[in-house]
Amino acid sequence: MSAGVSPMPVPVTRTRRFPARLRWSLWVLLIALVAALLVTLVWLAGRYEASQVQSKLDRDTADALSDIRSALNRNVQVLQALHTGNPRAESWRDKGLVLLRERREWVRLEWRTAELGTVIAADSPYHAAAFSRLGRENTQTEVALACASARRVSGPAYSSSYFLPGVDGMGVEVMDLCLPQVSAGRIAGYVVATYALGEILTTVVGPLISRSQEVSFTEADGTRLAMYGIARRASRVFTSQQLLDLPGNTMVLRMDSWRAAPDVFPNVLTALVTAMSIALVMVLVLLGRDARRRLRAEEDLADALAFRKAMEDSLVTGLRARDLRARITYVNPAFCEMVGFSAEELLGQDTPAPYWPPELADEYLQRHEIRLAGQHAPPREGYESVFMRKDGSRFPVLIIEAPLINHDGVQTGWMSAFLDISEQRRVEEMSRASQERLQATARLATVGEMASLLSHELNQPLAAISSYATGSMNLLQSQESDNPAMRDIELAMRRIAEQAERAGKVIKSVHDFVRRRDKEREPVRPEALLEAIMPLVSLQARKFGVRVETRCKQGLPAVLCDRTMVEQVLLNLARNAMQAMDQAGVAHPTLVIEVRSVGGHQNAQGKEWLQFSVADVGQGIAPEVQAKLFTPFFTTKAEGMGLGLSLCRTVVEQHGGYLGFEPNQPQGTIFRFTLPVNPP
Ligand code: ADP
Repeated sequence: MSAGVSPMPVPVTRTRRFPARLRWSLWVLLIALVAALLVTLVWLAGRYEASQVQSKLDRDTADALSDIRSALNRNVQVLQALHTGNPRAESWRDKGLVLLRERREWVRLEWRTAELGTVIAADSPYHAAAFSRLGRENTQTEVALACASARRVSGPAYSSSYFLPGVDGMGVEVMDLCLPQVSAGRIAGYVVATYALGEILTTVVGPLISRSQEVSFTEADGTRLAMYGIARRASRVFTSQQLLDLPGNTMVLRMDSWRAAPDVFPNVLTALVTAMSIALVMVLVLLGRDARRRLRAEEDLADALAFRKAMEDSLVTGLRARDLRARITYVNPAFCEMVGFSAEELLGQDTPAPYWPPELADEYLQRHEIRLAGQHAPPREGYESVFMRKDGSRFPVLIIEAPLINHDGVQTGWMSAFLDISEQRRVEEMSRASQERLQATARLATVGEMASLLSHELNQPLAAISSYATGSMNLLQSQESDNPAMRDIELAMRRIAEQAERAGKVIKSVHDFVRRRDKEREPVRPEALLEAIMPLVSLQARKFGVRVETRCKQGLPAVLCDRTMVEQVLLNLARNAMQAMDQAGVAHPTLVIEVRSVGGHQNAQGKEWLQFSVADVGQGIAPEVQAKLFTPFFTTKAEGMGLGLSLCRTVVEQHGGYLGFEPNQPQGTIFRFTLPVNPP
C-alpha cells in the first residue's frame, strides 16, 4: 500500500470531459485561428515592409524633385550671368560653348532679340545634330509661347516639351527655357536654353538613384517623355509620382522601384514573425501531444484507481488506516462487514474505537500509546486481539500493522490488515476435540481388548463355580434330610449357580459387543426385562436405602433387542440414579422405572417404539457436566470409570433407539431411551 495514496475512500468517477467531437472541433478551431493569425501576421509584415519601401521611394522622389528644381534655378542664374556686361555676340557664344560643355542637359543656347530673332546660337557638343532633322524654325511656336509667358511673368518660363527626332532614328525630348533680358525696364532680348529632359535626369538624379530604380518624366496622362535607369524587371513594382510645376510647363516626375517579389520573407520582420509563428505552431503541437498524453495518463490513473477499488472491495481482509492521532482515515468494505459498523460510522473516530470491547479498551489504549511512542514496532507476523461487533458479540482477529510512509519518507499514520480468525479457532477446537476422541477411542479399544481377555479368562472359573454349585446341589438332594439349614444351603447353591450363569452371559455379551459381532435380537416383553434386573436393583437399593417403583402397563408389546445388553443399560441407569441420590443426601430417595408406549409415533421404517425411563430425585446434572456426559471416561466420581453412559448410548443406538435425559421435577434427572417394538 503506497503511503502517498489518499487514505480516504476514493470515489472512482471519471473527471467530466468534453465529448470527443466537441474536443476535436475545439482543436480544429484553435488551429484555424492560429493559421489565420499567422497568415495575417505575415501579410501585415509584408504590407508594412511594402509601405516602408513606398515611403522611401516617395522620399527619394521628393529629393530628386528638389534636386531638379535647384539645378534648374542654378542654371537660370548661370544664364543670367552670361549677359552681364553687355557681351558681344562672339564672346557670348564662346562663353556659351564653355557652359554647354559643362552642362550636358543643355542642347542649345540662343540669344534672341525682343522679337525672337536669333542673335547668335551655340550648340552643345554632345547633342550636335539635335535640330538637324526637324530644323529650329519648326519649333518656333514652343519658343514663342515660352517667351510670351516669360514676358508676362518677367522671369524665366519653360515651354512644353516636344520631341526632336534624330538622324539615327532615335531622338530626344526637349523643352525650352526662355529668360528675358531686361534693360532699363524694357525687355531687350531673351536667352533661350533648350533642355534635353533625359539629360536632366541623367545628370541631376542619375548619381543618386539605385540600380533597382527607374526615374522618368511623364505627362499628366502618363505618357513617358524621358527616362533614366534600366531597372531589373521584377514582378513587384513600387511607383511614386511628384509634380514638377515649372512656370509655363508642368510635368510629372515618376520613380519606379522594382523588387524581387513576391518574397515569402521580404525582410527580417516578416522572417521573425514567420519564425515565431512556426515556433507557435510547434508549441501548439507539443501542447496537443502533451494534452493527449495527459488524457491517456488520466485514463490510466482512473483505470488503476478503479482496479484498486475493486481489489479493495473484493478483499476478505479488513483494511484500516489511521493517522498519527489515531483517527480512522480509511476502512475497506471487508472491515466494515467484519465489525458491523458502516464506513461513515467509523471514519474520523478517535480512541477508544467503537469495535473495542469495553473490558479490553484500557489494554488496547495502552498498546496504542506504546505504538505511537514508537517504542515497539508491531510484529511482522501480526498479533491476535479481540474485537467487538456492533451487536456486541466478540470475535478474535489477527492484526498486521505497518507504518504509512509518504513520499518524503515521513510517517503519516498506520495501516492495518485484519483477519477474522473465529472460523480458524472453531476448526482448531474441532480438531482438538477429535484428537481427544481419537485418544478415547484408542483407550476404548484397549479396554475392549482387556474386556475380551477378561471374559475369556473368567469363563473357566465361572464354569467351575457353576459345576461345583450343581454338584453340591445334587449331593444335597441325594441326602434325604429334614434339616432346614440344608434346604437353605441348597437354595443358596441354586442362586450361586444362577448368578454364575448370568455372569457368564454378561461376559459373553460384553465379548460379543466388543467384537462387534451381530447379536441375535429376540422379542422380549418389557415386564420380563424389569423382572430380570429387579433382584440386582433391589440389592443395591437396600444398600443405598432407596425405594424402587416400577410402572409398566399391562399388555405392552414385546421389544426386539439384545436382552442382556438392554438389561445392562437399565442396571447402569438405575445404579447412576441411586448413586446421585445418595450423593445429594435426599431425605426420601425414590427410584422410578417406567415403561410406556410411544405408539402411534411410528418411525420411517414403520416401527413402533416403547420408551423406558429411569427417574431420580438427586442433585441433577450441572450444565458443564451435561456437555460431556456421554464422553467416554468422563466421570465425577472418585471410583467411577466414566464408561457407563457412553456404553448405554452405543447399545441403544445400535438398536436404532435414542438415549437422552432431562431434569426431573422438582429435582433430579430422568434418563429416557427407546427400543423398537417387535413387529407382529
Ligand atoms: P460413572 O458412573 O462411572 O461415573 P457414567 O458414564 O455412568 O460413569 O456417568 C458419568 C457421569 O454422569 C457421572 O460421573 C455423573 O457425574 C453423571 N451422572 C450420570 N447419571 C446421573 C444422574 N442420574 N444424576 C446425576 N448425575 C449423573
